[in-house]
Amino acid sequence: MGQMTNRPAVIGRGFPFRRSFNFTILAFLLVVPLLLACEAGSRAEAVGRGGAMSPTAGATGVATARATQTAAAEAFDGERAMEHARRVVGFGPRPAGSAELEQTRLYIEETLQGYGLATRRDELTGDTPRGPIPMANLIAEVPATPGGENRPIVILSGHYDTLNMVGVEFVGANDAGSSTAILLEFGRVLAEHAPPMPVWLVFFDGEEALVQWSATDGTYGSRHMAQRLSNEGRIRDFGAMILLDMIGDADLVIDIEMNSTGWLNDLIWATAEEIGHGDHFSSEMQFMDDDHRPFMEVGIPSVDLIDFNYGPGHRYWHAPFDTLDKLGVESFQAVGETVLSVLPLLADRFDRGR
Ligand SMILES: [Zn+2]
Repeated sequence: MGQMTNRPAVIGRGFPFRRSFNFTILAFLLVVPLLLACEAGSRAEAVGRGGAMSPTAGATGVATARATQTAAAEAFDGERAMEHARRVVGFGPRPAGSAELEQTRLYIEETLQGYGLATRRDELTGDTPRGPIPMANLIAEVPATPGGENRPIVILSGHYDTLNMVGVEFVGANDAGSSTAILLEFGRVLAEHAPPMPVWLVFFDGEEALVQWSATDGTYGSRHMAQRLSNEGRIRDFGAMILLDMIGDADLVIDIEMNSTGWLNDLIWATAEEIGHGDHFSSEMQFMDDDHRPFMEVGIPSVDLIDFNYGPGHRYWHAPFDTLDKLGVESFQAVGETVLSVLPLLADRFDRGR
C-alpha cells in the first residue's frame, strides 16, 4: 500500500469539519424522493438529462442517473474474493522479483483466462536501490457492452506485490492480497455482465518500496504504466482510474483520500450511501501517496480507495499480523458492489461530457 503524505495526515475520527461533498450527497438525497414520486419515468429515460451528482441537480429538479444495484453488483461474490485472497496468501511472501510473485502472476492469468479474459504483461525493470528488478503489470481488457465501445476506458486497479520484510514471514493478506482478490472477482463478474464502457483490470507490480518509500522507491509499476500511456498519447482514452488498496479489513472504514479527483470521490461516496454501504465510507479525510499518483500526474481522473487504519493502532500494517483472519467477506462485498454500481454513473457522466 501507499504512504501517508506529509501534509495533514489522517484526521481523527469525529473531526467536525465536513468537506463540500456532503452537499452533493444532500442534493442527491433530495433528488431521490423526487425520482420515487415520478417513478413512471424509467431509469433509461432518466439517464443523460442533467446531473444528480452535481450540486445544482436538486435546485433544478432535473433528476438523472442514480445509484442502483446493477446486475453486475448483484453478481459480485465476496466469498469468491476471499477465496482468491486465501490462494495468493498461500503462495507466501510475494515481493517484487520473487518466484512467489511469479506464481501469483500465473494464478492471476489462469484465473482471468478461465473467465474468458485475455491478459497481457506490461514488463519493466524496476530501477531500485537494491538494483534492477524485473517486474510486470498484468492487464486484462474487458470489452464494453455493445454501444459502449467508444466511451472512455475505466481502469480498476490494485497492486499484487507484497512488502519485502527481511526475516519476517509477511504474507500481506490485506496488503496486497485484498486488491489482487477483488480485481479477480471483478474479472469474473464483468466477463459475464459486460460493463457500460471498456474496463481495464490492472494489477500493479512493485508498489512497495524496496528500502524507503519515496518518489523513486515504490509505485514502480504504476509509474511505468502511466508514463507509457502518456508517451503513446493515450491519456484521453481513459475516463477514470479507481485504485483499490487494503480494502479487505474486516473492520473496513475508508476515509476520503484528498489527493484524489474530487468528483470521483463524490460519486463513489454517494453511491455507497445509496446502496447501503455508507457505513464503510467515512467522511474523514486523509492524504495518501499511492499507485493513483502517477495517473493523476498524467491527467487521468483517479481515486484511491484505501483503509489506512488496520488493526489497533494500525499495527497490522506492514507486520506479520497481516493475515487472512483479519479480512472480512462483507468488506469485499461492500467495496465490490459499490465500485460496480459506479460504472453506469461514470458512463452517464462521460456521455454528458461529450
Ligand atoms: Zn504496503
